[in-house]
Amino acid sequence: MTLISNHLPTAELQALDAAHHLHPFTHGNDLEKKGVRVITRAQGVTLTDSDGNEMLDAMAGLWCVNLGYGHHELAEAAARQMKELPYYNTFFQTTHVPVIALSEKIASLTPYDLNHVFYASSGSEANDTNIRIVRTYWDQKGQPEKKKIISRVNAYHGSSMGSASLGGMHYMHAQGGLPIADIHHIGQPDWYTEGGDMDPDEFGLVRARELEEAILHHGEDKVAAFIGEPIQGAGGVIIPPKTYWPEIQRICQKYNVLLIADEVICGFGRTGNWFGSETLDIKPHMMTIAKGLSSGYAPIGGSLVNDEIASVLNDCEFSHGYTYSGHPVSCAVALENLRLLDEGGIVENASKNTAPYLKEKWQTMVDHPLVGEAQIEGLIGSIALTPHKDSRAAFASDRGTVGLMCREHCFANGLVMRHVGDRMVISPPLIITKDEVDTLIERARIALDKTYAQLKSEDMLKAAS
Ligand SMILES: *Cc1c(COP(=O)(O)O)cnc(C)c1O
Repeated sequence: MTLISNHLPTAELQALDAAHHLHPFTHGNDLEKKGVRVITRAQGVTLTDSDGNEMLDAMAGLWCVNLGYGHHELAEAAARQMKELPYYNTFFQTTHVPVIALSEKIASLTPYDLNHVFYASSGSEANDTNIRIVRTYWDQKGQPEKKKIISRVNAYHGSSMGSASLGGMHYMHAQGGLPIADIHHIGQPDWYTEGGDMDPDEFGLVRARELEEAILHHGEDKVAAFIGEPIQGAGGVIIPPKTYWPEIQRICQKYNVLLIADEVICGFGRTGNWFGSETLDIKPHMMTIAKGLSSGYAPIGGSLVNDEIASVLNDCEFSHGYTYSGHPVSCAVALENLRLLDEGGIVENASKNTAPYLKEKWQTMVDHPLVGEAQIEGLIGSIALTPHKDSRAAFASDRGTVGLMCREHCFANGLVMRHVGDRMVISPPLIITKDEVDTLIERARIALDKTYAQLKSEDMLKAAS
């Protein structure tokens, strides 16, 4: 058997990578200069690189390895499925057992009547599907003009043309002429950065009411749907004020606007419940799922719709689908993942035991001179770095300079923590133990101390004016 493992010296792997591999969200020339890190193995919450360095992965890969690394049950499920039926499609009056079993399992876990899944291979594809579902839904109901979708600035919904348009990342829109037509963005509920003198609850209402203003501006008969992450992930783990979602819910209801919760990160135990919508008290008509659905062991995503939307869609032929919609191997892996998360008690244990422990420790970080706030919900959290805690000021340096500095200190001290601008974010595997939480916090504090010392010595502890 050919094993694709670390058969070459790191420098050779790096040179080959630079020669032939284009990386996502990466400045290629900068990476080539610094040298890419080659990850060779992982077990539990620990990654190992090609030089044998071990790191605690506080990001669960890219927010997806909820189950942690090294679960051979999933490998066996994939191997069994590949031998029995490696591929068959779900177009043209056919189906297969793994997709049936997974759909039933997902429906049993989702709240309300979100009982129907349309499959994709990623969150981006699933959100593209959502655009077509909501427009087809209103079309079918005799309102073809009701097709605008409202999203938020600094939202992340994926990287394809449709999903990146839904997203609110201006630097993504700038490449490739986005957003596509009929997608509009309102402000985000980021009180820490944008709340000014308002208290958080007041600010939450103000930002939610931007949705009402947008609907009145465009016309109720033109707005099909609103999409939002219960907690913004890639935008910096922004936990909205508690007034925000109930007001969004009220507005969607009042103006007959479909509410899509993008649960790609928040789903499958991340926030302490199975779905972020439960934690944040949202009653969506649709959900986007991916990432934790398979814990990243195989690519799969999906659009979940409620009974009413499914019945309207079923009244026509929905001309949409991917070759790998409901791929049997991905379905078998996802099913085994959900079985372990559910029957193995992993979501329950994370919610009842690990999350309260992590929360207590994480919140102590505000004692650090660099930390302006520490937010956490379940196993997803962030801290805001600031030169001046009381005013919540940004640094004088370019946004992200200090965050990147802190991330480098994390890496050097055996911790993978990501930065979004000057916020540091975590989203560890749900199987992280209390001892490993202690290690995470200890290493994060070392990185913060080193960042603080570096900022002082380079005279960078200055607030933007
Ligand atoms: C990652 C992400 C996506 C996109 O998923 P991909 O599998 O990377 O296409 C969509 N929405 C949210 C909230 C995400 O975090």
